[in-house]
Amino acid sequence: MTHWKKALISFLFLGLMLGFGYQQTLAPEPISNSDVDYAALSQHVEVIAAKPHPLGSVANREVRDYIVAYFESLGLETEVQKTTVVYKLPHQSNKTTMIGNVENIIARLPGSGIGLKDDASDLVLMSHYDSRSDGPGAGDAAASVAAIMEVARIVTNEQAPVHDVVFLITDGEEMGLLGAQGYFRQHPLAANSGLILNFEARGSYGVSSMFETSSNNAWI
Ligand SMILES: [Zn+2]
Repeated sequence: MTHWKKALISFLFLGLMLGFGYQQTLAPEPISNSDVDYAALSQHVEVIAAKPHPLGSVANREVRDYIVAYFESLGLETEVQKTTVVYKLPHQSNKTTMIGNVENIIARLPGSGIGLKDDASDLVLMSHYDSRSDGPGAGDAAASVAAIMEVARIVTNEQAPVHDVVFLITDGEEMGLLGAQGYFRQHPLAANSGLILNFEARGSYGVSSMFETSSNNAWI
């Protein structure tokens, strides 16, 4: 291969890599006529993912306080569920047991209940606020938490939804779903969960997709 061909291929390859990198770091493009406050979304991510904040760290408590204060500022009934969770990881052959003290954030928007007969179950929007210890967790899962906080702001400004909405931001997810175990096994509200939408990172760019689901949900 001649030198100029090699140079051209290298140049094209470099261009592709630069283009790829640029695409990865593009900010979300605002949708016109949307109620979404993109500056608020960015601010939430910047605060939550300012530094690594694994379960039990001081930084994680600061993140917890930021999210709790935000939900309270919207007028939502907000509590922190402090509990100890013991959980055997199901996907490991040696059945490792994880133990941790988690602090789940639970904010609730009461629904109007208008037209409801039998099914007064809650809509649960959930994600997790802890990060791994080796990264700040902007994608996993500050972006998801920010989106839920923004949804909470928008829906509290509108007419009450029919069903109660629970905003569940769990702790200790990176240690083996400890917060989710704590909520769904121990919290009295959990039994009233109807539809649960859990937001989680599966990469740092690209479209959103459903990657895991439960059975008997074709009606959705
Ligand atoms: Zn995650």
